[in-house]
Order: sequence, then C-alpha cells, then structure tokens
Amino acid sequence: MKIIDAHMHYFNVEGFVEVAKRAGYENTAACWQQICRDNNIAFSVAMGNTAYTSSRYGGVPPRLIDLAAPYDEEQYNQPQSMGYCMGVASEEITEANAAQTAQEFAHYITQPHCLGIKLYPGYNAVYVNDRRHWPLFELAQAYNVPVVIHTGDTAMPTGLLKYSHPLTVDEAAVNFPGVTFVIAHCGCPWFVDAAEVACKNANVCIDLSGLVEGNPKPLALFEQQAGFFRQLHTWLNYMGDYTRVMYGSDWPLVNIPFYIRLIAQIVPERHYEDVFYNNAVRIFNKIAPLLKE
Ligand SMILES: [Zn+2]
Repeated sequence: MKIIDAHMHYFNVEGFVEVAKRAGYENTAACWQQICRDNNIAFSVAMGNTAYTSSRYGGVPPRLIDLAAPYDEEQYNQPQSMGYCMGVASEEITEANAAQTAQEFAHYITQPHCLGIKLYPGYNAVYVNDRRHWPLFELAQAYNVPVVIHTGDTAMPTGLLKYSHPLTVDEAAVNFPGVTFVIAHCGCPWFVDAAEVACKNANVCIDLSGLVEGNPKPLALFEQQAGFFRQLHTWLNYMGDYTRVMYGSDWPLVNIPFYIRLIAQIVPERHYEDVFYNNAVRIFNKIAPLLKE
C-alpha cells in the first residue's frame, strides 16, 4: 500500500534524539528517507518547528523545517517528496503585527513545497479563533491551503489544554467556511469532540497522528488500551466521512511499521486508500504536482 504521512516532524532539536531512540530510530534525514523506502511512503508533510527565521516585514516569521540543514529559502533542503506547513508562534503575534505576520507567511506560500499553516494552541496560550490568527486564515483561503491545528494533549505539562481542546476549532471553522482546518491527533483523547466538530463542519478534517509513542508491543497495547481504540473507531464512524480522515505518524515519536498497522486496525479496510493516501493529496492540494516530478 502506497502511503502519505500527513503529519510528521523534520526538526533538529535535542529532545527529539531521545524521542526517536525510543521509537527505534535516529532523528536524521537519512533515517527518515530509509523509513520511507522501507514502508512505501511516497510523500510526507512536515510540521514547521524552527524558531530562527528572520522577519522581513515586521511580523512574526513562520517556523520551518531544518533536519537536512538550516532552511535556505533560495534552495529547498527538504527531499523532493516532502512538503511543509509553516508553524505559527501565536504568542508573539499581536493585533498590531498580525497583518505583517501574514505578509511573512505570504513570502513562503507560493513555494511549491509550502503546503499549509500549522497552529500550536495549547503550547501557545492563544485560542484557534483568536483574531490575531485571522489574517493567516485569510491567507490560507486566498491560496487554498489547509490550516492544521494541534489539538488534545500537550507533550509538556506547561501546555494549557483549554486552548488545545478540539471544540475550539468549531468557531474558526464557522467563521472561515472557505478554509480547510485539520484537527491533528483527532483531539486525543477527546475523540468525541473532534468527531462532532468534523461531523458538523464540512471544512474540518482529522489526522490520526501522535496517538501512541515509542515502539510498544502491539498485542499488549491493544489489550491494555482496547477501550481507547474502540472509542476512536466508534467516533470516526460517527463522523462518518473517511474522505476527511488522514494517516499521519508524528515521527520521530513513533515506530512507523507499528503505527501503520495500528491505524489499519482502527480504520475499516475499504477506506485504506483514502485514509493512507488519497485524502492527503486532496486536502494538501499542492502535493499532486510534486508527486509527478
Ligand atoms: Zn506533531
């Protein structure tokens, strides 16, 4: 089965060295390329994390990717088979610099590998629908790229869950019906809320990344967490539209063959082609020309 990983990270940060090791990997570009070859992953979408891009217009510049080498805007340093979403440092945006921030993002949005925008509510104490994000949503609409939103649990105890609850996506989805919003991690563990927001709003999709970390023994995990996976299955079925559900891993957090098998256990087999591949090509609509090259 050909796969697109709709949510992974390609970020050179100290903490990821240990995280990758627990999943059985090294946090390196070469390791990811080998994983793609071994698991038939044709394309991957990296969420931007870096924090050193310089400002051009007096706004807050996007967070990009840097595992292969520091990002160079004249020369793509990600593999051809990888695109990225520009990460938003929401806490640094103010009403005064929100328009300039959108200009900073506009600088990158026409690049072929720039596929969308990524918000980190929970890590940032800013709600999805906060007005300081609106110029970014208008930009996403103008260029027809999706906005991916971290939802659910945060990796650090300093995160604030009230900002990352999936229900908070509803208001932005209603205000911007022309923007596609992706609820990352299916709001884990608030599956019911994520499913309802996606059920009600046709412009909301779900990615299934980051539900498990490391490289656990599948049978033991299924036994211990049977209710958790049954719930996810139940609420995805309630949402009822597998054309808006995408496979993603959150690499380097998890072992990839393990995670592919896990998601294949949760998603009904007749929807594999959509969930593991087709939906990502449609939702991140700039992937298609990159696949042909
Ligand atoms: Zn992630």
